[in-house]
Amino acid sequence: MSDERTESILQRLAELRADDAPTHGGRVLSYVYDSGLAELDELARAAAASVQAVNGLDPTAFPSVARMEADVITFACELVHASAHDRDVTGLVTSGGTESCLLAVKSARDRWRAAGGTGVPRIVAPVTVHAAFHKAAHYFGLDLELVPVDEQGVVDTAELTARLTTQTALVVVSAPCYPFAALDPVAEIAGAAADRGVACHVDACIGGWVLPFWSDGGEGLSPWDFRVPGVTSVSLDAHKYGFAPKGASVLLFGDPDAKRAASFATTRWPGYPVVNPTMLGSRSAMSLAATWAIVAYLGPDGFAALTARSRSATHTLQECISGIVGLRVVGDPIGPLFAVAADHTVADGDQVDPHIWADRVRELGWVLQPQPGLHQADGPDLPRTTHLTVTPVTGDEVDGLTAALIAAADDVRGVPGVDLGELLSAMPELAVDAGADSATAGGILRDLGLAGEDAGGALPDQLAPVMALLDVMPARRSEALLTELLARCNERHRHGDH
Ligand SMILES: *Cc1c(COP(=O)(O)O)cnc(C)c1O
Repeated sequence: MSDERTESILQRLAELRADDAPTHGGRVLSYVYDSGLAELDELARAAAASVQAVNGLDPTAFPSVARMEADVITFACELVHASAHDRDVTGLVTSGGTESCLLAVKSARDRWRAAGGTGVPRIVAPVTVHAAFHKAAHYFGLDLELVPVDEQGVVDTAELTARLTTQTALVVVSAPCYPFAALDPVAEIAGAAADRGVACHVDACIGGWVLPFWSDGGEGLSPWDFRVPGVTSVSLDAHKYGFAPKGASVLLFGDPDAKRAASFATTRWPGYPVVNPTMLGSRSAMSLAATWAIVAYLGPDGFAALTARSRSATHTLQECISGIVGLRVVGDPIGPLFAVAADHTVADGDQVDPHIWADRVRELGWVLQPQPGLHQADGPDLPRTTHLTVTPVTGDEVDGLTAALIAAADDVRGVPGVDLGELLSAMPELAVDAGADSATAGGILRDLGLAGEDAGGALPDQLAPVMALLDVMPARRSEALLTELLARCNERHRHGDH
């Protein structure tokens, strides 16, 4: 691979990559999960390359796919105590957490219908449940009933179980939830669901590969997996704390028929018989092979060692936040992630707005993830927060990071959050409770300075004003604007900006 053409193509790709957020080194505290082990990345790359041309669509043509899936599922089963209660746990390797969540919902919906359910089926979940379940409800025609959480991100078990009816096809709990890392009361909720014959999915997409090694080998946590009677499926993403390249998650079912209900088959067309256990048709085996190799290389001890590093960095960072006047850690986070909010127990002038703070931290070289506040009709308003996902490499430069977190808070303490009241009165169309077509949305983005030549289509450096915008706009409007913003990301390259 050294002729001039390939070199110049790869050179061009390297130039494109130069503008990307760094995937290694711990500077970005979301999206990427860096083990810090260069040899692991190398192994994953070689394993993926060796199946580059394979089509995972048909394991009878490519038996290696079935074998690697079996091995990854066996390892995942160990993580979540699948052998408890003599259950016959089976599984799938999917393309990611979203696909695992979608398939858990499809399975539950079809099983609910097969058991005689009629009308519109329902998902019941705490409001902190991942957006993938909003998507599943939207795609598969279910209603999503969200149960409020308190300021700590904790759902009231009685309030949730009171909402389980004959329309409920699935209740979802998280281990832990992404926004605040609260570990939902899995045992109570799964037990109540089982009493009513309702399926219960545990979304351990982010926790599944790390909680089993957390405190005392996971023994220090209340049980959240197949040890809990009533849990019918569990999702756990290999491309998060399994350190696999993007494109790999595991979905486990407590009953073989539930796995079969997730699949789709048809023999009613003139082509090959279609049997798709997951959402995709043709599918890459690359992330699967990488996951398989990583599992073989690390084994439980390797994961335990990496988890210990993430855990120690998490504690250092949480202590750092606790020591910063004007900020606080939200609730009682479980696992290597947490959210930071303003501490309203101190005087206004001592408070730190988490989004203004995140923007300042970013100027100092570290990328945190702002999360909007949420108004709950039937619960307390949830504050705007900033999210940190901690990985093994976070510890390598933790002194630099804590110094940045502290310095940024000192720099912006007392600066009030962005108030868009003025903007709102200048642009009343923002408050219109409706979506918008592409042209209208584009016009609004331009007026806001978020599109067109000046912004170059890229997100602005300061995210606090954008997040504040989400706070004041009706959801349908902000969803339309964000859809427009993302759609333009590649369109702008095709309209002459080379
Ligand atoms: C990441 C995540 C998902 C969605 O996973 P993707 O891999 O991003 O599609 C679902 N649930 C939880 C709790 C997550 O953290």
